[in-house]
Amino acid sequence: MSLRLINLDCPSCGSAMRGEGLDTIFFCGHCGDAAVLEDDGLQTVDSTALMPTPGRHAGVWKPAWRFEVQVRVTQRVRADGRTTPDWEAGRTFFIPAFDLPLDDLTRLSRALSEVAESAAEVPREPIRGGTLAVDDALELIRHILIGDEVRRLDMLASVMVDVEEVSRSLVALPFETGNGQLRCAVTGVTVQHRAA
Ligand SMILES: [Zn+2]
Repeated sequence: MSLRLINLDCPSCGSAMRGEGLDTIFFCGHCGDAAVLEDDGLQTVDSTALMPTPGRHAGVWKPAWRFEVQVRVTQRVRADGRTTPDWEAGRTFFIPAFDLPLDDLTRLSRALSEVAESAAEVPREPIRGGTLAVDDALELIRHILIGDEVRRLDMLASVMVDVEEVSRSLVALPFETGNGQLRCAVTGVTVQHRAA
């Protein structure tokens, strides 16, 4: 294993981007662009922000992936052997891209993906780095969709869920901090606060 030192200058404006430890996802506090560290260096990714809902405040900003995906559910068979109709639809998902326990990650992803989206410009404030790879984020989307199918009250025996990425971007997400917890300022969902 070899150690690589990467120059974390924003690919768009050249300002130094902040990251720590295992971070692979970065926002530029100067121009608001986001980038992901790939094998061949920093690659720019489209970026937006979600604003706090009225009455909530942004104490700290953290990254999330936003995916538009095409979902296909096929071969859905109930316990009594009947097959239910296939369906296909476009969906939008927000998946927090920083270190969270799987329970918290799933809960916050579900809540964010149900919120009516009002995208805004990325704030020119420090935004923490992230670690969640695209493939892992897409796998979590599949996991959430399979969970949705299992929850339908018809004794599911088996199902195929196919998720095809249509587009991806990075989103700055506001959180309130306190009592060792992070509260999402968009959804109100509270998750564990891991010290960075
Ligand atoms: Zn920049």
